[in-house]
Formats: sequence, C-alpha cells, structure tokens
Amino acid sequence: MSSQPTARTAAAKASDFPTGVALLRDPTLNKGTAFTMAERNALGLRGLLPPHVFSQDEQVQRVLKNLRVLPNDLDKYVNLNALHDRNEALFFRVLTDHPDEMMPIVYTPTVGLACQQFGLIFQRPRGIFIGANDRGQVASLLRNWPYKDVKIIVVTDGERILGLGDLGANGMGIPVGKLSLYVACAGVHPNQCLPVMLDVGTENEALLNDPLYVGLRQKRVRGPAYDELIDEFLMAAQDVFPGVVIQFEDFANVNAFRLLHKYRERICTFNDDMQGTAGVVLAGLLSALRITGGKLTGQKILFLGAGEAATGISDLVVSAMVEQGLPRDEARRHCWLVDSRGLVVKSRTDLAEHKRPYAQDFSFLPDFPSAVEALKPTAIIGVAAVANTFTQPVLEAMARFNQRPIVFALSNPTSKSECTAEEAYRWTGGRGIFACGSPFDPVTVNGQTFVPRQGNNSYIFPGVGLGTIACGARHVTDEMFSAAAWALTRQVTEADIAQGSLYPALSRIQEVSAHIATAVAKVAYDKGLATKPKPADLSAHVSAQMYDPRYRSYVQNL
Ligand code: NAD
Repeated sequence: MSSQPTARTAAAKASDFPTGVALLRDPTLNKGTAFTMAERNALGLRGLLPPHVFSQDEQVQRVLKNLRVLPNDLDKYVNLNALHDRNEALFFRVLTDHPDEMMPIVYTPTVGLACQQFGLIFQRPRGIFIGANDRGQVASLLRNWPYKDVKIIVVTDGERILGLGDLGANGMGIPVGKLSLYVACAGVHPNQCLPVMLDVGTENEALLNDPLYVGLRQKRVRGPAYDELIDEFLMAAQDVFPGVVIQFEDFANVNAFRLLHKYRERICTFNDDMQGTAGVVLAGLLSALRITGGKLTGQKILFLGAGEAATGISDLVVSAMVEQGLPRDEARRHCWLVDSRGLVVKSRTDLAEHKRPYAQDFSFLPDFPSAVEALKPTAIIGVAAVANTFTQPVLEAMARFNQRPIVFALSNPTSKSECTAEEAYRWTGGRGIFACGSPFDPVTVNGQTFVPRQGNNSYIFPGVGLGTIACGARHVTDEMFSAAAWALTRQVTEADIAQGSLYPALSRIQEVSAHIATAVAKVAYDKGLATKPKPADLSAHVSAQMYDPRYRSYVQNL
C-alpha cells in the first residue's frame, strides 16, 4: 500500500518541507500529538506540542470518545469535518477503522442534514466552486486547486440533493462526502480527489432569502447558457487534470439523463445515481439468485418508480442479460416499470424519453398492486421514494407466486422505505429475500434470524473509481459496472447468504473494493480502453495504489 507520509519522508529532507506551526497547520502533513521526539527535534516542533507522544491508535480513541458524547449526528459531522481540516490521515484512519459507525455520519443520512444547514455550519471551504458568472474562466479556477494529480472529480449542480430537492450551492456537502468515501472505502488517495460545485443558482426560495446562504442569489441558469458552462467545465477538467474521471452526482432528471448520454462516449464519466445504483442492485439480484437457484434471464422484475434509479438498474440488468446471450429487445421485456401514473406500457402517450425503452406491449394498469397481481414478478424493486407501498397484500401475493420472492425496498431515507425489514420477512412467511436502501436491524421470523443489508452504492462506486484510475480507463462502460456487480456478489460469503445478507459486511469494504477495482480494470484492458501499461499482476497493482492513513516517519532517513 502506498501512503502520502512515505513520500513525505523524502520530502522532509527538502528545504521547502514545512516546519513548526506551518507543519501543524498543514492538514495533509499534521500528526498533532503523534509527532515523535525525533520529528519534534528535526522539524522545529519542540515546545509547540504537549510533551507526551501519542500513537495514532490512541488519537483514534480520543476522537471516538469525543464523538460519542455529542448529542446528535450533525454535531458529529461538524466535529469530523474539523478533524478532516486539521489532520487528514487521522480523519481517514477513523473512517477506515469504523466504517459502520462513520459512514452514516460523513454520508447519508447525516450529509443531507449537513447540506440543509451548510451555510450555518460552514467553516472552511473544500473543493472548487464554479459559478454561472465564471464562464470563460473555468480552467483558471481549476488551476487554483493546490493538488495537480487529481484523478477523480465528483460534481453536482445541487438541483436534486438526495431526496431533498434543490439545495443550490449547499449541495457541495455531497461531492465532499462522496469523495471521503472514495478514500475510506477504496483507498483512492485524498490528493487525487476534487469536489466541484457548479453553482448555477437555485429555485429554492427559502435559500434565496436565507442571509447565511453560501451560493449565488439568483434563479437557476438553464438552456444553452447552462449547457455551455457544463461543456466548458468538462473540457477544462480534462485539460487541467488529464485522464480525470468525472462522476455526476445529484443532477435533476432533466439534466442527468441527457448529460450522461451526451458525454459517456466522449470522456471518462459516469453517473452514480444511475450506474452505481444499478451495479449495487444487480449484485444484490445475483446474490439473491444464489438463494433461489434461478437464472438472471429467468427473472421478471417489477419496479415501483421509473426515474434515474429504476431505468439505470433496468439498463444494467438488460446489459447483463445480453452478456448471457439474450437479444436486447427480449431482455427489456424482463423489466417492468410503474410510475406515478401506472404501468409503463406502449399505449401511454405521456412517457418521458428515458422510460420509453421499457414501455411494454401490455394493457395499461393503473397502479402497483394491480401490476403485481397481473404480472406475477419474481422480484419487486422499490425506487419511487413513496413509503409503505409494499403492503401486506403485495408481499403476500409475492409469496404466493414465488417460493422465494425477491423484495428490494430501496427508497431513502428510512421514512420513505416501501416496507420495513420486519414486514418483508413476516408477510412472506420468512421466505422473502430482502435488501434495503436504509439500515434495518436483524429480524427473527419462525425461529430464523435474518440480517438485512443495505444495497449501499458505497459498495460499488469507490471500487469502480479505483479500478478506472489504476488502468487509466478512457471510458466507464456498462460492462465495467456489470463486472463490478459480479465481483461484489463473489465477495458475499456462504455465511452471509445463510443469514439472508445479499451484501458483504461493511467492515470488509476496502478488501471488497480492491476486488471490484481489479475486475473493472480487467475489463478496460480486455476491451482496449486502458491507457496505462498492463501490469503482470493486476490485483497486486491495484492494492499497491491504495492510500494507507497510518502515519509514517518524516525523519527516519535524516
Ligand atoms: P427519481 O426522482 O429519478 O425517480 C422517482 C420515480 O418515482 C419517478 O419515476 C416517479 O415518477 C416515480 N414515482 C413518484 N411517485 C410515485 C408513485 N406514487 N407511484 C409510482 N411511482 C412514483 O429518483 P431516483 O434517483 O430514481 O431515486 C428514487 C428513490 O430510490 C429515492 O428514495 C432514492 O433514495 C432511492 N435510491 C436508493 C439507492 C440505494 O439504495 N442504493 C440508490 C439510488 C436511489
């Protein structure tokens, strides 16, 4: 594993290596009370720190002790952010050692609250803010970023932040949080990560009237001016950071679909809301099939919802079926969608572009329960953000049609979940195979204890990013997400399966991401999409690139 501190050992010999207070104030180098006596002597730190030298493990314990007494998750978020600003290695050590506890704080659900309160809790900027009024100068803004080896950018325009809608520039919390997960889950180096906010205004009146709002106080720029800013940003990013991967995040439907289709063949880009979600859900389906013994091409999947998640998942399921020999048109007949107006069928004239490939030659049905009864699906997947829609009759019907019905209630947050884990297991008589979008505790039904796990995008996108960087892929393809899904399901153990868990334990996330990254890079090499020379041992090459937040000595060679 590589680590920034190792590189710094040599740097410590250089005359420009910071010393004294400047070193303590550099979050990328600071170790706080863990500077050794030798380092304190050599680097002008004597007297600037209390005398006792702590280990990083002891510092982690101090952080945890402080965090755990805080009254709420937003306070914990603020506290962790401040740590990130003070001591980057310690921040990532806390995250990598305690993913189950920390991920809900640095990302969903707490990051949603943090975005809503962004103007209030703002302390230090992180990332690049590009305003609608910066057109013509985007490249120069990007050049202000202090790290030149940026390999992954997460960008949002803040229009559809989680399920919270338009949060304008406050949405910057999302790219920041997501990039922390790239580091914590897959060991992408922190200096290679750049969060970007494209502030084109907001329609959110409350924010426009909020004296603490950090963004432009104007309505959203739309039409050609918006497209030109996006285009300028994407081209400038390629220019300033050659080979960078750009992940679109939390754009509204109206832009998300068309931007992905416009740019996916031109630059190295993907949309996690569609493709990352699709990867994690495909992996969950593949794990479920290990229980049912069925084939992917034998499934009839009914979605509640027909937005970014539902069509993204359908597209990847179709690609995976095509890989297994099914013609594309026939594969599409396995994915059925219900939106707010009813079943997506050919006779409807009100269908948005992204739904049309899934318009089935079938009679119109007005709602989800009637579609379940008529279609007898093998799997239902809820991604409409409408709570309590997997009702007792729906789940009992699924259990009538299937020996082991597949039930994924993926809507976030918990209050939007289609059903609880308890309902999914109980109303199917303990035969349901369940995955969720929000965390649920284990459930015991008929004497058997089930451990439901979240179909969390963090299982997929960090590994995809690491793999793409490791081989210098020119594009991120569906085949890579399909390979990522297969790699993820292979990491689900028999013990996981036996307790009804369709995903591995989060505590193994770095190991899991390394497998995914290797699978993704292999596709890139096999398809001629890689720009870096192929290493003899791809898996070792991937692992060797992973950031290690443990401290290294800055002075051992002096
Ligand atoms: P979206 O806004 O793109 O799509 C929502 C869809 O739901 C739209 O097609 C809309 O027509 C449909 N809908 C709304 N009300 C409905 C109703 N009453 N009946 C049927 N359909 C209805 O949003 P999205 O990005 O697709 O996300 C949807 C949900 O899925 C969110 O709650 C999100 O948090 C969740 N999600 C979970 C994961 C995960 O668990 N890994 C990943 C992505 C999204």
